[in-house]
Amino acid sequence: MPKYIFVTGGVVSSLGKGLTSASIGMLLEHRGLKVTMQKIDPYLNVDPGTMSPFQHGEVYVTDDGAETDLDMGHYERFTNCKLTKASNFTTGRVYYNIINKERRGDYLGKTVQVVPHVTDEIIRLIRAIVQDENDIVISELGGTVGDIEGLPFLEAIRQLRLDEPPNSCLYIHLTLLPYLKTSGELKTKPTQHSVGKLREIGIQPDIIICRTQVPMQQEHREKISLFCNVRKEAVFEEKDVDYSIYEVPMLLHRQGLDTMIAELLDLGGSEPDLTKWQELLEVVKSPSQMCKVAVVGKYVELIDAYKSIYEALGHGGIANDARVEIKRIRSEDIEHMGAEANLHDADGILVPGGFGERGIEGKVLAARYARENEIPYFGICLGLQVAVVEFARNVCGLEGANSTEFDKASPAPVISLLEEQKEFIGKKMGGTMRLGAYPCVLEKGSRAHAAYGTTEISERHRHRYEFNNAYREAFTSSGMILAGLSPVRDLVEIVEIANHPWFLAVQFHPEFKSKPTAAHPLFTAFVTAALAHRKDSEHPSQV
Ligand code: GLN
Repeated sequence: MPKYIFVTGGVVSSLGKGLTSASIGMLLEHRGLKVTMQKIDPYLNVDPGTMSPFQHGEVYVTDDGAETDLDMGHYERFTNCKLTKASNFTTGRVYYNIINKERRGDYLGKTVQVVPHVTDEIIRLIRAIVQDENDIVISELGGTVGDIEGLPFLEAIRQLRLDEPPNSCLYIHLTLLPYLKTSGELKTKPTQHSVGKLREIGIQPDIIICRTQVPMQQEHREKISLFCNVRKEAVFEEKDVDYSIYEVPMLLHRQGLDTMIAELLDLGGSEPDLTKWQELLEVVKSPSQMCKVAVVGKYVELIDAYKSIYEALGHGGIANDARVEIKRIRSEDIEHMGAEANLHDADGILVPGGFGERGIEGKVLAARYARENEIPYFGICLGLQVAVVEFARNVCGLEGANSTEFDKASPAPVISLLEEQKEFIGKKMGGTMRLGAYPCVLEKGSRAHAAYGTTEISERHRHRYEFNNAYREAFTSSGMILAGLSPVRDLVEIVEIANHPWFLAVQFHPEFKSKPTAAHPLFTAFVTAALAHRKDSEHPSQV
């Protein structure tokens, strides 16, 4: 029978529930157990695909083309579980399903209600991710206990336990112990209230994990134990980490969290061997070299907007025994101040994905600056499209070249709408992009081929526009290499510039498949190129 771990959050949002859940998944996997992970979001959008990164942060894409919450990125970076469309659902999805059923007549004669219909649908969606009866399902509930919109989910996870055999369900509550600087005290009262709210609903947490800035003392453990009705040993500390989020599983393991979960759920499994993880932390802590990469984007003020990109750059650093310092640059600043002012000290320039016109010319200027100054350039999705536009204008001599996303009347539409997208624009925006994993064949001898070490790859997509094939000849005759093509459709997936140290751009999103223990080959190669650029420039390579 599968076992369930539910992770709830208390006191405030942004506590790092995703990271904590991912860390638990990682530890259990290292104990030889089979883990699947799920995120439940209480908002009404059916998925985050139509939300602005300013609202929601990055939209993470799975192999099967689901547009999901960024916590799914943590799950895939920390564990080896295969996430699918079933791994993330929202209130919007729950109601969408129910209303469709109601319209079909499935409830004919009945009044459709939150209990039992909404809660039953939630339970069905939680159980839907079980693929194997040996699975351990970790379900993270978004939001904070006490939110109105989270109530049906708490009710559902309370009910689910009633239908399971003993030792099959565990409730873990992540909470905050605020530190009052003036009195030098850590306070447990908000945690007591938050757990009180949970217990009102009928959920008694089995384990409480406390986020804190300063170490907890025995008295805090005792207080939380007494007022929250949990054993003292079941109160764990998750102190702010010093240098990397990848420390979190280690600090929870040192306190015996995975052993306690294994005991409470009767899981068996062996003591985890965390040597590889420890080794990567050593590199993160004291790398032997460094380089500076400029990420030129539209949402750089918000760290979550390009979460997987920043993580993958870090992984590329780990693979090179290097620290990658990330300089976040608003593309509009380049439009106002010029590329030189913003990019002169960059050892590599990365333009990530994006939508809409704002800041687009700044990205084009960044691609130009990288090409002309022989700075390694890595374009991702929109980052490929702006590199193609720039090359068309300034190398191929195609005046006014643009993407039809930004200029419908461009005399040289070198990036144009994918044929099948024509019916969707302005009519049906949710879930209609070219989404998920598609195969790609690499040109032998290209930089992409050198990085991957194979000619057949599969990568995840999320876009509506593509390289316009009518211009292939114009580009290749001017020195652009079409280094990756779709084997099933006539699509350009990777471009490179021949006479440049490292200029590579991809239509897909490699950042979603990078892990700290297995950096994505393109990120590794990009960081290698950035380190080489730094060595050649005036700044010596040093940490
Ligand atoms: N806006 C572009 C498109 O839809 C790029 C998308 C992206 O960067 N994810 O094709």
